[in-house]
Amino acid sequence: MEPIYEGKAKKLYTTDDAEVLRMEYKDDATAFNAQKKAQFENKGKLNKAITLLMYEMLEAKGVATHLVSDLDEVNLLVKRVEILQVEVIVRNLAAGSFSKRMAVEVGSEFKIPIVEFSYKSDELGDPLINDDYAREMKLATPEECAFLKEQALVINEVMTAFFLECGLKLVDFKIEFGKGSDGKIVLADEVSPDTCRLWDATTGEKMDKDRFREDLGGVMDGYEEVLARISKVLTK
Ligand code: UDP
Repeated sequence: MEPIYEGKAKKLYTTDDAEVLRMEYKDDATAFNAQKKAQFENKGKLNKAITLLMYEMLEAKGVATHLVSDLDEVNLLVKRVEILQVEVIVRNLAAGSFSKRMAVEVGSEFKIPIVEFSYKSDELGDPLINDDYAREMKLATPEECAFLKEQALVINEVMTAFFLECGLKLVDFKIEFGKGSDGKIVLADEVSPDTCRLWDATTGEKMDKDRFREDLGGVMDGYEEVLARISKVLTK
């Protein structure tokens, strides 16, 4: 079957149910707006497993996601949603593009988390936007932007506490939201070391895609360690 959509790290296929899609996690990795590319054996499997556990954990805390069910090693079944073209980033500590843009030392802690919107456009390099841009570009209404920010902060609170239990510091992350045929907006896409910066809470060791971005080696070792710690906490 041909995918109906192929992104950098995932493919989407239709299923017998018009309301359900199959999401396949690929082994492809990209960074710096796809200027840097590689393949990692087991990456699809690891990110699928991590996203599944994170979605289940979030659902248990009352956060609605597009997860329907687990399918197999690299596939999840998800509710068909229209992805809002607004990427939502939450930052607890300065890192990545924030540190670069603002010349703030990596690791500086924010008193209150920062929520940021960017326009999901590879062509434009995901430019930083605000809710006025989102309104005028018809990406999301002001009410939707307020909801995205509120949800993102709830998700941050839940995930920060959970990762801390796993001995991991949640530095920042990117999430996406989708609108179902019922008009409801839910968390969609993925929650994995591709989209979250995670540092070992004691040593500060990086366990996420920065290992690939910065050529630190052991990229999949980091992802495997994240999965092992999450699994351990959830089966306690
Ligand atoms: N991020 C992502 N996809 C993007 C941009 C960012 O998953 O297209 C994640 C990134 O992994 C990090 C957080 O969002 O956890 C903040 O990223 P930042 O804006 O600092 O950009 P980067 O350093 O990745 O260029």
